[in-house]
Amino acid sequence: MSLLLRGKTVCHLCGEVIGLDDAAQQFPPGLFDSGGPVAHLNDSSIHSTCLDALPEAAYVRVLLDDYVRGRDGELPRRRFTAVVTTDGASERVTLVAVYRYEAMALLRETYGENSVVDLTDVEAAHRPR
Ligand SMILES: [Zn+2]
Repeated sequence: MSLLLRGKTVCHLCGEVIGLDDAAQQFPPGLFDSGGPVAHLNDSSIHSTCLDALPEAAYVRVLLDDYVRGRDGELPRRRFTAVVTTDGASERVTLVAVYRYEAMALLRETYGENSVVDLTDVEAAHRPR
């Protein structure tokens, strides 16, 4: 699952930055068939409003919902929000993972061992925002 850096990450559909308080969706790599109409959404982040405007919005939400609930006996995933501070600069990040330690590990891998990670919020990833 891609990291969403609020205030930095650009929406894959409209090209605008996803703001601190914008409702957004993130997609893991390989969620959609590579030859299908929404293959371009794989491993991307988009505004929820931009998703709503897609003709395939309902289909996309069903697949994403299956993914976060956990298909075939997989564990459900949760959305984590974190503030990561590296060299005095802070970023707000959201990501989807099964476990808290998994989210921490991904953030440490991305920002380095010297970053300070404050996981501030956890919610069920399938809950609409
Ligand atoms: Zn957008």
